[in-house]
Formats: sequence, structure tokens, C-alpha cells
Amino acid sequence: MSGLKTAIIRSGLETLYFSGGNLFMRPFVRGAGVILTFHHVRPERGDQFQPNRLLEVTPGFFERVVRYLRRRRLDLVSLDEMHRRLVEQDYRRRFVCITIDDGYRDTLQWAHPILKRYDVPYAIYVATSFPDRLGELWWLALEAVVARNSRVIVSANGKEQGFECRTTAEKRYLYDQLYGYVRSLSSEDELRRFVRDLGGRYHVDIAEFCKELCMTWPELSTLAADPLVTIGAHTVNHVMLAKVPERSARSEMEHSRSVIEASLGVRPGHLSYPVGDRTSAGPREFRIAQELGFKTAVTTRPGVLFREHRDHLTALPRISVNGEHQELRYVRVLLSGTATAMWNRFRRVNAA
Ligand SMILES: [Zn+2]
Repeated sequence: MSGLKTAIIRSGLETLYFSGGNLFMRPFVRGAGVILTFHHVRPERGDQFQPNRLLEVTPGFFERVVRYLRRRRLDLVSLDEMHRRLVEQDYRRRFVCITIDDGYRDTLQWAHPILKRYDVPYAIYVATSFPDRLGELWWLALEAVVARNSRVIVSANGKEQGFECRTTAEKRYLYDQLYGYVRSLSSEDELRRFVRDLGGRYHVDIAEFCKELCMTWPELSTLAADPLVTIGAHTVNHVMLAKVPERSARSEMEHSRSVIEASLGVRPGHLSYPVGDRTSAGPREFRIAQELGFKTAVTTRPGVLFREHRDHLTALPRISVNGEHQELRYVRVLLSGTATAMWNRFRRVNAA
């Protein structure tokens, strides 16, 4: 995310926090509950160039959030319990569901002990190619190409273009350009091909990130055995489902569920769409997830849960806790529903 966008989000959250707009709107926008999204929970790294920093929070901050939630008058619930409340329209108490995407080893090492200490149920959405060691964490391959080189030649749209990337600012600029470019491609195949070619040219092995960062099946099975943990599906290859043909989208969802069932002995009832924004999951994916019998499926479209979501259980919004804004007051504003209500222009359901 660009520095400018970060600054805008930060000032928006600050304004809501200090203006009291937050308090005034709260009864209309707070909804029945919230699903929170995390990715990495791990200690801060020293590097200046960290374009994916929004995907990580420190264990210290994570614990502050969990402790804060524990002390609030709300219930910390599993996905099954959230599903029950939505279906039965049981809104006596507001609830929060904690979800962690992808299946990184730091979930086991850092997040799990904290959630255990506070007795908090949570879900891990696993892309099965990651423990199978075949996954392509392409955003990290892009980061590595830019981090490890001072000049990068990119072939895009049939042209070659060279970029200097010596300084952090230059690296940041190039990363944003590359990320924007691959996200604008219309198919997942093109994206993968582009990143593989670039990685090949600069000796970055995409497979290395999987081995280094993701849990193995035995590690996942220790977590799956804990009653606090729900294992959810997150496709096989972590593809943006809306950018593959319908048949592939369906088999990505279906196969990830059967691979998890075969490997861990639990059949996932819940799904998270990779990337999860509007360009990655839309009405077609919401329908397929429903046809496959998933009880719920989550996007990364920002929002809190309203009673209307009972009719959109495979298109649920979430609130990402962004590593660029590790302040408890931002989390409080986000939980209140005011920031996302403004983002969604006060529409409660965003499932189109
Ligand atoms: Zn993911």
C-alpha cells in the first residue's frame, strides 16, 4: 500500500477517534459482531523496505488487542458459534471472531500461545499447497526481487523497462508499480507467469518462502487438535478465484477442503477467499461456496456483521488489523463500525 494511502487511512481513523463522530454514529453502525483478520504475528524486523508490513503485527500488539477484547462486554466466539448466532438471529451479545489467514508458522509460535493464555477460540484458513510445499507466495517473491537488487529490468506489455531501486523510496515505488501491475492482470495464470519469469531472472526461488514461513502438516495437526482452533479452507493454490475459470474456482475450493480432511481428519465447514477483495471474489464465488455447502465464507471486504448477513453467509465482510497502524485506538474505531460504515457509504451488505 502506498504511503499516501496509509496516511489517508491513519488520518481518517484519527479524525473518527477524536471527533466523537465515532460515539454519535455507533448505535447505527456497530452491527451484531465483527470478524477480525490477521496474517503474520511476529516480532518486528529491522528492514527499512517492508512493503508487506501491513500483513503483520507484533506479538506485543496482538496481545494488547486480545486482552482488550477479553475485557470488553462482548463474546469471543468460534466460526461455528458465529454461524449459529447469525442463523438463529441470536444477537443478545455482540461478538468478535478472530481469524488468521494462510497458515504461517508464526501463528503456532506467537499467536497461538497468546490466544491460549486468554482462552480465545480462533480460526486458521489454510491454503493446502503451503503445507504441501508447492505454494507460491508471489508477493514475497516480488518483494525479494526488489529488496535484493539495485536495478531491475521488467518485461511487461511486450516492452522491457529498467528501474533503479537503490534507495528505500525507489524500492517502495518499484514494488508498488509491480504489485499494481500484476494485480491489474486479468488472469491468475498471467500473474504467476510474470512473477515466475521475474523471479527466474533474479534467482529468487518462489518455493523458498513456503518452506521458510508456512506450517507443515504435523505442525498444523498440533493446532487442529486444540479445541480452540477451527481449521478453515483457503483454496489449494491461493488463487484469486474470480480470475480463474468457474471449473477451476470450484475445484480449488472443493479440493482444499478434501485435502485438509485427509491430512488433519477434520472437514472444514468454513472458507476464506484468497486476497478476498472485489477483484478476487464476487457473486460467482459466493454462489459456488454456497453450492459446495460451506457454512460461511469470508472476504476481505471491510465491514461489520449485521443481521442481514444471514442471507449472505458466503459473502461475509471482515476487518483487517493493519500492521501499518498498530494502535489500540484504531482497533477501537474499527470495531465500532463507524470507519467501515463510511467506507461502505452506510450500506450494510456489500455482496454484489
Ligand atoms: Zn491468504
